Amino acid sequence: MNITDSSRVHAGEFQEPSLTREQMIRELTVQQDRLKVILENIPQGICFVDEEGNLAACNRTFLNLVGLAADAFEHGKPYVDVLSDSPALRDQMGSNEQPYAADYFSMVSLKTRATAEQRWFDHRVMSIVHQPLSTGGSIETFDDITESRRADARIAHVATHDALTDLPNRDLLRRQIEEALSHEIPDGCALMYIDLDRFKNVNDTLGHEIGDVLLQRVAERISQHASNCVVVARIGGDEFAVLIRQDVEHGHVSMFAERLICGLSDSYTIRGHNVVIGASIGIAIAPEDGANWAELAKHADLALYDAKSAGRGCYRFFDVAMERSVQAERALSLELQQAIGRHEFELCYQPLVNLHPQRINGFEALLRWRNPKRGIVNPGEFVPLAEELGLIAPIGEWVLRHACWRATRWPEPLRVSVNLSVAQFRANGLVDAVASALRESGLAPHRLELEITESMMLDDTQAVLSVLHRLRRMGVSIAMDDFGTGYSSLSYLKMFPFDRVKIDQSFTRGIGQRPEAEAVIWAVMGICKSLGIDSTAEGVETNAQLEFLSSAGCNEAQGYLFSRPRPEQEIERFLAAWELDESSRAALLPERDTVQGIAQEDVS
Ligand code: C2E
Ligand code: MG
Ligand code: MG
Repeated sequence: MNITDSSRVHAGEFQEPSLTREQMIRELTVQQDRLKVILENIPQGICFVDEEGNLAACNRTFLNLVGLAADAFEHGKPYVDVLSDSPALRDQMGSNEQPYAADYFSMVSLKTRATAEQRWFDHRVMSIVHQPLSTGGSIETFDDITESRRADARIAHVATHDALTDLPNRDLLRRQIEEALSHEIPDGCALMYIDLDRFKNVNDTLGHEIGDVLLQRVAERISQHASNCVVVARIGGDEFAVLIRQDVEHGHVSMFAERLICGLSDSYTIRGHNVVIGASIGIAIAPEDGANWAELAKHADLALYDAKSAGRGCYRFFDVAMERSVQAERALSLELQQAIGRHEFELCYQPLVNLHPQRINGFEALLRWRNPKRGIVNPGEFVPLAEELGLIAPIGEWVLRHACWRATRWPEPLRVSVNLSVAQFRANGLVDAVASALRESGLAPHRLELEITESMMLDDTQAVLSVLHRLRRMGVSIAMDDFGTGYSSLSYLKMFPFDRVKIDQSFTRGIGQRPEAEAVIWAVMGICKSLGIDSTAEGVETNAQLEFLSSAGCNEAQGYLFSRPRPEQEIERFLAAWELDESSRAALLPERDTVQGIAQEDVS
């Protein structure tokens, strides 16, 4: 029988001589071999189902995928029976609980192309394509996408979980809260923000590795406490969140918060170190404190801020008054940002009095903010805010330049003392700022003293020490301010050769009142003497205090007994009056509060 190539006949160009039967068989064999090679090299499992639903052909990958040996079936066997012999599919075929199996078998008989994704009993995931053929029957393609789905799941997990603790991250928490709020909430839900107290200290003193382990332990403890009702998430460095979805009545949530604070404050043993931290908690309850994620989160954050301001280690429920105080702070921030440009800062000066013999050694420069609406604002009210807003570096530079320039007008060797903030150490330009203040004013370096507080030594101690040494090399002296108010005062004295220690006014106030305050003063004087450090007592208001300090060996005193801080234009007059006897001095220098003094001058 001759067979003709119909396509060529159809083309009508020329007719090749007819093939012989042998040639045709050879050609068909060659084509079949090619098809086999193609089939065997396709990465997918493929099978042909004929128009009667029997398996007509398949490749090895298909057999491997369904877990059947090549001789486990004969061609011509019903396709559905072949699959039901497969260990990977057998169970699901018999089970109505696996609807996807039924889905696929109904798909096989479809007359249109269809796709499905199935998880098989051995947990592999298959992507299946059913392609009907125009001649009847179909081609079924199986693609094992288990690895790719696993990778997807890993990526999804990484995107929604914190790598260190494996807790849900802020994004997942947000979605879970949105989901919780989208339903009718019969009992409401409560969002708790937890911030660790003193975590930064641990990181700074024991290193980040221990800090990381601590965060993992904290995550475990929170999860244990919150095991039955909640989502626990890590939403920032040392910030965690807990979402409670039942029993959110205040009494119950309070008890939970108390237990949590207690649990987190128990000491941790990490690589031989005994670590103690605390926790502050802010709580907002839906729907009353917020009907959506953004509001609820903002209010939990405000409540946390309030708990931290209240001294930490406590919890607070959100209250609308908190929002008002934050708005007030925001208004203050805005005005503070404009204050430098508007020249609203000024310095007043408080004398530093040498005790034996009594004479003026110099003045401490104290910053004031003259605000058109608020009047004179004291540093206690705005310096912490300026630090938070990153404004203290430019303000501090202004203080340095202005104080150095003013001191050049005082007789030698009077010095000026300038307070530094920890943020100025972090900002990196401190040494240059001091150098240029001295250069521009022409003040001799030994007439400038810089006052730092113990809190600065907590913050990256090595970096702070290196800056202090560079300043000392310039000839500037360094004083430790508010001495005795921190935890490790004495150890700091060993770290750096301070020129002066300023005993905090709380100890001066305790003279004649609290024997322990007097004992501290004696002890500090002894240490200063043995280390050759000068001492200044702050807040001296009475002669009795002065006498005690003098007999304890204090070199210098500062306080209302001698003078309140005074506006800069009064200093020359003050120095002149100091030379006079006490009654003439009093007549020339009425003792008044500087703040009012400035205000009165303003009015006049
Ligand atoms: P400080 O450096 O310890 O300054 C002493 C504070 O005690 C001053 O408060 C002063 O007015 C007050 N004082 C002085 N003598 C007495 C007294 O006899 N009795 C009482 N009750 N108080 C007395 P002020 O001016 O409000 O300053 C408070 C703090 O603000 C300062 O404490 C200092 O830490 C900070 N500060 C002041 N000026 C600056 C500045 O230019 N930069 C920075 N970063 N901080 C500053
Ligand atoms: Mg000071
Ligand atoms: Mg002080």
